[in-house]
Amino acid sequence: MAAAAVATSSRGSLREDLTCAICCDLFREPVMLACMHHFCKPCISRYWRGTQGPVSCPQCRKEFSTKQFHTNYLVTAMVEKVRATTSDSYIKNLEKQLKETLERHRLKKEAFINSIRRDKDKMDTIKRVGADLQARVKGDFRALHQILHDEETCVLEQLRREQEEELEKVQRHLEAIELVVRELEDNMRVLQQASADTESVVLTELPQLRPCVHVDVAVEFDINTFSNKYMAPLQYITWRKMFKSLKPGPSPLTFDADTAHPNIHVSRDKTVAVECDFAVPHTDHNKRFLQCVNILAAQGFQSGRHYWEVEVASKPKWDLGVASESVERHARIKLSPESGYWTLRVRNGNEYSAGTQPWTRLQLSSSPHKIGVFLDCEERRVSFYNADDMSLLYSFTNGPRGKVFPFFSPCICDRSQKPQPIRLLHYPSVALSG
Ligand SMILES: [Zn+2]
Ligand SMILES: [Zn+2]
Repeated sequence: MAAAAVATSSRGSLREDLTCAICCDLFREPVMLACMHHFCKPCISRYWRGTQGPVSCPQCRKEFSTKQFHTNYLVTAMVEKVRATTSDSYIKNLEKQLKETLERHRLKKEAFINSIRRDKDKMDTIKRVGADLQARVKGDFRALHQILHDEETCVLEQLRREQEEELEKVQRHLEAIELVVRELEDNMRVLQQASADTESVVLTELPQLRPCVHVDVAVEFDINTFSNKYMAPLQYITWRKMFKSLKPGPSPLTFDADTAHPNIHVSRDKTVAVECDFAVPHTDHNKRFLQCVNILAAQGFQSGRHYWEVEVASKPKWDLGVASESVERHARIKLSPESGYWTLRVRNGNEYSAGTQPWTRLQLSSSPHKIGVFLDCEERRVSFYNADDMSLLYSFTNGPRGKVFPFFSPCICDRSQKPQPIRLLHYPSVALSG
């Protein structure tokens, strides 16, 4: 607004400079007299009309002997310019442009302000999510510290008790000996007295003595037995014990042979499944997959957080993950969350994909031999890890509702190669009880 006012006022004073003193309007065909004053050619002609002899400038009254003036083209051009820029249509157009430019600026500003608001919202979200995650991480570590602290307390308490027992054993022995010493001293006093009495009395027999108490031989303190338990790989032993307290620790899954497709052979201990060319003897079961070469674990989950590990070694083709209890088992179905499957798969040895619809190809730097599957029922999350280094491979955040089972498909691989099994890992192979 201020800039527009300045422009208007400077245009105003220019307009004054280019105004004829006779007609008080913008110069028409401006001419300049010898005194440098300008007038419209018609105005000065009319002013001088009828005058004989010398004429004068209407402005400064300077006299000239003849009616002489010069056309000033520069002033003519300026007048044309001022006339054009002060016309109503020009001003209207200018105002319209001003309005439009202002509106464009307003809209742009509004867009940027919205963008600022979105950025601030994003920052708030990042801070909120960050704080939630921080609390979660702290909680997990607090639990871990607690496990270690409890274990330490337990081991130290046991050590204290054993030390106490050893001390008590020696203490009992010590007290028994001290008692015997006192008894011996008593007897010695009696004997000494009797010996002194022989001067005056005829001693016919030995005086009555207290029987000596028998003292067990001192128990040997075996420093090795005492320290062996504590001079041990304590950290490793504790780490092994901790597996039972981890939430979630690795679940020791087993295959549910009743769900196995007839072409899957399951080991006697239910931890190894391998595809075979022929149908293995099996009983009819409506849990059984009849079309796809699939199998489920016997353990189903519908709450809490669970983690398990599966060894796929260098098997060139497999699918694994979780499947809803309700999945259709007698038909061929594309594995995707929509059909109740949250899976990771490999084809041709190194083409990894997440089982979305369509598949999401994953670029992995190495081929994991072990896959970790993490199921968080409350957060509806199914994540896959390279269990060799625990790097995250893929995470479904639209996970299952309701009961699911760990799912596996050994697939039917190239007949020219020896079939390789899928192995459920129990890690550590034997968890120590607390
Ligand atoms: Zn004039
Ligand atoms: Zn003049």
